[in-house]
Amino acid sequence: MIPVTQPFLPPQEEYEKYIDGIWKRNWLTNMGPLASQLEMELKDHLKLNHVLFVTNGTVAIQMAIKALGISGEVITTPFSFIATTSSIVWEGCTPVFVDIDAESLCIDPKKIEEAITEKTSAILATHVYGNPCDVEAIDIIAKKHNLKVIYDAAHAFGVEINGRSVFEYGDISTCSLHATKLYHSIEGGLLITKDPELLKKLAYIRNFGIAGFDSFSELGLNGKNSEFHAAMGLVNLKYISQIHEKRKALAELYNEKLKNLRSIRPLWHSKANNNHSYYPVVLESEELLLKLKNEMDKQEIFTRRYFYPSLASALPYLPKLELPITEDIAKRVLCLPFYYDLTFEEVEYIARLMLRIQNND
Ligand SMILES: *Cc1c(COP(=O)(O)O)cnc(C)c1O
Repeated sequence: MIPVTQPFLPPQEEYEKYIDGIWKRNWLTNMGPLASQLEMELKDHLKLNHVLFVTNGTVAIQMAIKALGISGEVITTPFSFIATTSSIVWEGCTPVFVDIDAESLCIDPKKIEEAITEKTSAILATHVYGNPCDVEAIDIIAKKHNLKVIYDAAHAFGVEINGRSVFEYGDISTCSLHATKLYHSIEGGLLITKDPELLKKLAYIRNFGIAGFDSFSELGLNGKNSEFHAAMGLVNLKYISQIHEKRKALAELYNEKLKNLRSIRPLWHSKANNNHSYYPVVLESEELLLKLKNEMDKQEIFTRRYFYPSLASALPYLPKLELPITEDIAKRVLCLPFYYDLTFEEVEYIARLMLRIQNND
């Protein structure tokens, strides 16, 4: 059996060392020393001024919307994980879907402007598979129309544009440190902003809006994360370059072995590195996708239709809208098994099998 993903696990002893400290201190959560240490180490690693470590990537998006005072309509992408859209609705705003670019698979900035109305207050875009959106174009549109920008950068850990973290873009960027992401703290999320006032506000929101022993600064929630999660984040950070290197090598092998697969790959941002979060292939047709997926399922090699279906046409709580490029790509995109412990032999086996299925017309 080969799963589509598998969490990275460090040597158990290394995690246990941190756990010993937690037992000695008896400080389990509420921004303990490990959570603070993780924030420090992540900010250094990512060359940022500050990061906030929160419960998960979904709460991070909800906190970002709340902290920016966003209301009314939010222009967003239908080609993302459900949390991008559900967070907008959860915060009482209305998602306005705009089609994606057929090559990058990120929101198409050319289509954003026509979707702006007097009710629009923000753009929430996803760096799909870690591939940065056209951040410059989005920035120009946002400034012109006085809109806030949030990037769902859940897939983009370790991605840089011109040598600067992609997390620096937008008013706020969010990341997910969920177990299935390339770098994780079991459950976890990050919030990044360059605005010190906004950062302070987000820190208060994370802690119920408590501003002192007997005062509250604003409406808050519980967005804190625990020492146990921080410990996993700290241990995993020691392995991050190994993780990046292994995934790069696996992706290169897939690229080479799947040259003859009737498919394309997302066109990557020309000034950004690829963090190899996923290995998506956009197949020539849905028919080919289904043939591959069904045969591989039988052999217990699991792939995932990610993202499928389009968020604009599949949610019971929203009106249905069919955006042609998203509908088309969502039907044809398949993520192949891709994780740290996947072996090169397995990649070769998967690639051989896929070509055999494809060519067996
Ligand atoms: C994983 C993911 C999220 C949600 O993150 P969680 O930490 O699981 O809450 C949000 N957006 C995208 C694009 C994701 O892939």
